[in-house]
Amino acid sequence: MATADAAAAVARIDHWIGGKPAPSTSGRYGEVWNPATGEVRARVDFASVEEVDHAVEIARRAFPEWRATPLSRRAETMFKLRELVDSNRRNIAELITLEHGKTLADAMGEVARGLENIEFACGIPQLMKGEYSEQSSRGIDVYQIRQPLGVVAGITPFNFPAMVPMWMFANAIACGNCFILKPSEKDPSASLFLAELVKRAGVPDGVFNVVQGDKVAVQRLLDHPDIKAVSFVGSTPVAKYIYETATKNGKRVQALGGAKNHMLVLPDADIAMAADAAVSAAYGSAGERCMAISAVVAVGAVADPLIAAIRERMSRIKIGPGMEEGNEMGPLITREHRDRVASYVANAAAEGADVVVDGCEDAVCRRSGFFLGTSLLDRVKPGMRCYDDEIFGPVLSVVRAETYEHGLRLINENPYGNGVAIFTRDGGAARQFQFDVEAGLVGINVPIPVPVAYFSFGGWKASLFGDLHMYGPEGVQFYTRAKVVTSRWPDPSTSKVDLGFPQVR
Ligand code: NAD
Repeated sequence: MATADAAAAVARIDHWIGGKPAPSTSGRYGEVWNPATGEVRARVDFASVEEVDHAVEIARRAFPEWRATPLSRRAETMFKLRELVDSNRRNIAELITLEHGKTLADAMGEVARGLENIEFACGIPQLMKGEYSEQSSRGIDVYQIRQPLGVVAGITPFNFPAMVPMWMFANAIACGNCFILKPSEKDPSASLFLAELVKRAGVPDGVFNVVQGDKVAVQRLLDHPDIKAVSFVGSTPVAKYIYETATKNGKRVQALGGAKNHMLVLPDADIAMAADAAVSAAYGSAGERCMAISAVVAVGAVADPLIAAIRERMSRIKIGPGMEEGNEMGPLITREHRDRVASYVANAAAEGADVVVDGCEDAVCRRSGFFLGTSLLDRVKPGMRCYDDEIFGPVLSVVRAETYEHGLRLINENPYGNGVAIFTRDGGAARQFQFDVEAGLVGINVPIPVPVAYFSFGGWKASLFGDLHMYGPEGVQFYTRAKVVTSRWPDPSTSKVDLGFPQVR
């Protein structure tokens, strides 16, 4: 956090409350960097407790009217929002690239995957349909309806500043809830632009709000009695804290955490295809994806040719500012994070790993932004920090396994269970892997198995705290609660007093 005077000249990023920008008076703010230049781009307000309370109150007041709005009308606003996001893909992507650093093409991909969730939410009348049993007992019908929860909150990470908010708010508001988004303070502009589009789509003021900030804002959302549910995506220690605190306060919570995604390569795999996949999934978005592959588990004799093929491809990756056409990998999010990632590579040899390619020696590190070259480590083992920690940068480790069982054991013993992939030509082996592996998202010859929006996304183990996965059908379940109605329209002539427990036969 910086002080108010120092940054008076820099552009200011405010909250969005009640359908309009809402400047903060907290006097607290953070700096938003352009990672490609290493310069401060803007300052973002950090909400006070009172400002969070104000946003929640505005949302609480908007809720009765929004939940009573017909499903067809809510669907119509989703269709309009779909058109607006579609026609503004590039504008959103540019905001992402300027603050996150990923390439424009990658940012366009992020917007496309976020948009899928709005498209899914266009089907809300179908998705919120209940169930009906006629004649459950004589003259009695039983039916279940799903109703929105009220005011719900979403707390999102820096690495997908548009997609992850769309994972959450599309379903949440389509279901009839009012939403408070607390985006990452590192790249907050895309969420504000999305808020404008939500308004232009015809969603009433107060239904969608953005509160900028740090842990002060998050803590208030976790404590506020009018917040009924919290969706979180971020690192595992924070996810665990969010889950424990918000559930203790009686809220419904889905908290997605960090990852250490493995790619198991069997001896029969197509080496070129596996190398293409490993390089794409490890270094895309500079490794700052929760579904990035960070460990290749090479079974048997596949290790040497695979490492050679990966190394050869790494040398061709074009690293540079994300706004410049042709670059394939941009900088990391902050200088501190870049230095932290570099420290894993610097320590790897002392831990016993072979440093095949040292990204810290890449000429790109001498540029003014937060750049780091791509690194490849071999003979990495559990117990080394470069294996045990989520590095979240362009560092790929190769772990050598003797057999399929050995490789599987490594993966299943890892505390994380987000994404995992197997590369093989053997359908039986792939099917066995799908049966055996302890992870929520499995790719078979697919390195980044992020499900389409009509399935749900979520890891296992330390990658998710809570019961329901995010977006898709489980997202609708998360943002609604069931009410079961038992109904009789009696014939008064059959009515009588009966103190026995209700029977159905
Ligand atoms: P982060 O945990 O630092 O921050 C996430 C959010 O929590 C931000 O909005 C931040 O302001 C807030 N926050 C941070 N520290 C807090 C604290 N002490 N108390 C309360 N709130 C706090 O995560 P990040 O660095 O923004 O994102 C990267 C992490 O997110 C990685 O671990 C990555 O694997 C994970 N991630 C997971 C998924 C998934 O689907 N599982 C998706 C994307 C990112």
